[in-house]
Amino acid sequence: MGMSGFTYRGGVLCADGLAVPDIAEDVGTPFYCYSANLMREAYLEFAAALDGLPAEICYAIKANDNQAVISLFAGLGAGADVVSEGELRRALAAGIPAARIVFSGVGKTSAEIAAALKAGCGQFNVESEAELDTLAELAASGGRPASVAIRVNPDVDAGTHHKISTGRAGDKFGIESDRVPEIYRRARDLPGIKPVGLAVHIGSQLTKLDPFRAAFEQLARMVSRLRRDGFAVERLDLGGGLGVVYRNEARPPLTDYAALVREIFAPLDVSLTFEPGRRLTAEAGILVSRVIRTKESGGRRFAIVDAAMNDLIRPTLYDAWHDIHPVREPDPHAETAPVDVVGPICETGDVMAAGRALPALQAGDLIAIRSAGAYGAVMSSAYNCRLPAPEVMVDSDRLAVIRPRICYTDLISADRVPDWVTGHRA
Ligand SMILES: *Cc1c(COP(=O)(O)O)cnc(C)c1O
Repeated sequence: MGMSGFTYRGGVLCADGLAVPDIAEDVGTPFYCYSANLMREAYLEFAAALDGLPAEICYAIKANDNQAVISLFAGLGAGADVVSEGELRRALAAGIPAARIVFSGVGKTSAEIAAALKAGCGQFNVESEAELDTLAELAASGGRPASVAIRVNPDVDAGTHHKISTGRAGDKFGIESDRVPEIYRRARDLPGIKPVGLAVHIGSQLTKLDPFRAAFEQLARMVSRLRRDGFAVERLDLGGGLGVVYRNEARPPLTDYAALVREIFAPLDVSLTFEPGRRLTAEAGILVSRVIRTKESGGRRFAIVDAAMNDLIRPTLYDAWHDIHPVREPDPHAETAPVDVVGPICETGDVMAAGRALPALQAGDLIAIRSAGAYGAVMSSAYNCRLPAPEVMVDSDRLAVIRPRICYTDLISADRVPDWVTGHRA
């Protein structure tokens, strides 16, 4: 069956070929639901746009680190971009060859670097001189040189939310452009290090191509300069950052993005790495929640739902907008009225949507919070001792629980109470 994605059929929202209320019946609410078909389509669209380029797609695991999701992309030929030993282990466990794993991040510890070296990690994106020294020391003692890309901070404003903008001077990421030639030289001279190229990642949820252009042109100039000075530059890692639709954003078509990449980098004869995360998973996921009850207070109408900021923190953290759709298809002429969709957590910031125009919601109704497949479940917690929402994947008419809901016993028994605490209490 070729049905993919989240559409109304027979008066209810379906995920691929399955009715969302049936899944809710099975697994209980709240839960994340991913469409395998949408993830595959997003990956294949990305790969098709890059067709003909010497390009590798390294899925940025931090967007959605479920093993089933990583395995799905691994099966399509993806490498991985990881930012911790945990993500490295997830990538390896999903069968991604170590040689196709890029280790990014500003704070790799020595233990993490050692683990990545031992695994045979294909590329380290280095973000400071001190990190380079640590890596050199560990790699030299292990006897296997580390392939290194220097992450450049191009001082470009990605035009995205402040908290996910990573390429401005003063952001913690990367090495200032001015200092790159000097660090590149140092990398070449250090035992244990093989500099292979440069990396850049200027932020996430970019909805315009101009900031990419500014960063990429700068990177291309730097390649020419380094080569003039006699350095080999074989690889460029162009990061991720492509925006998705949360509301009505004009997300840049991948073909335009790829055309920009071709224009700037085709003349350089260099291999390219891409690290998309959000673009591959965000729109492929929804968070399904049930209305617990409604109330009116202080002139506002509230729908209190069973998903909260511990499940999806993006609205609270980034003031992010997520479209919300009633699972039972509303009458097209149904009146809408502004409602605050809020969770049960004891924080005023626990708001999924404020003053959102929605058809009347009642206790027991199901809602779907859209574009929740990236930076959703991965950022969840058990705050207020709430059980993090489970995750399910649908594939046409198949359903699998890919991260079950844990039970209260497991959650509580994970803690250890020292004798001397209970002693005091007695
Ligand atoms: C977060 C991150 C990505 C993925 O970003 P998206 O916006 O999800 O595509 C890629 N590379 C690095 C280094 C990152 O930190």
